[in-house]
Amino acid sequence: PAVDVDAPVTETFRDIENIEAADLPEPHSSVTFRPVVAVTADTNAVFETSVGVIHRINDRTRFVAHAERGQPQVVDEDVATLVTENLHATVELDPEQFGEVFDDVEERRFGQTQTEYKEWAVERLQQHHTTTVTYTGDNNVTYDKTCEPNRSDISVQSIEPVYLPEVRHTTDLQEYTYPYEYYAAGPSRIAAEDGIHRCVHCDTSGGDETYTYCSNCGAIACSSHIKTERLEGEPVCTGCAVTERFALKTKYFYDEENLEAFREEYAAMPLHEKAMENKWLAGGSVVATLLVVVGLLVIGGII
Ligand SMILES: [Zn+2]
Ligand SMILES: [Zn+2]
Repeated sequence: PAVDVDAPVTETFRDIENIEAADLPEPHSSVTFRPVVAVTADTNAVFETSVGVIHRINDRTRFVAHAERGQPQVVDEDVATLVTENLHATVELDPEQFGEVFDDVEERRFGQTQTEYKEWAVERLQQHHTTTVTYTGDNNVTYDKTCEPNRSDISVQSIEPVYLPEVRHTTDLQEYTYPYEYYAAGPSRIAAEDGIHRCVHCDTSGGDETYTYCSNCGAIACSSHIKTERLEGEPVCTGCAVTERFALKTKYFYDEENLEAFREEYAAMPLHEKAMENKWLAGGSVVATLLVVVGLLVIGGII
């Protein structure tokens, strides 16, 4: 069956101004199967001193960790949720079947054995649950006691090794390449990197910002790095625009040719139209004229 693996990219480009789905080239798409372990463990511990029980742990913990070579790394909470919610729906990994829809398929290996991950999980939970408790003794003196559960207080209920598909699309638009990366499981996905909602000219990314595509150079830019091309009235970014000041205001052009065409247009304009090239200036001169008129009326004894 034809799987539209590019759909998330098309969808992500939907709220970029000045570019339509039909204008998008096919992205380069790759999938990496990343080994993760989903751990469920119970910790039960009671801490007592001569004054009685001072601390209790009765906790079930679920967490997910990247399990490639090197030290396991606990994944972000939303990725962990994605994994645990889809654990019931795992399928046998057959990388070849993905070769037809993705340009590249990579399968990473588990770095350690299941027993080693179990050891690591117990140690991690030991640290996680260790806390300092302050209590008052019979002699009315305040004590601090570090409560660290024993290894035997922690029992790993399950440790499930699964591959989490990480999909990376890169879309080339003229001079720029836009990456979009997400983790996928079942019908859900969690974006890992969104290089589409990001201005190529500054640090602005994500959020409520409006991003606009510059058809002159391929840039996606934030609202402060997008201007209106003076001759054609279309968006152009500050990175590629050719500029010149008219009526003291900077105007933006796709290229020298458009600038030259506008110079001629401008030269032929009547004065008041030239002034309109800087609306602030035009507004300013209207105010000044009125004041003078009022002044003349005062002097003439009319007011
Ligand atoms: Zn910007
Ligand atoms: Zn541009």
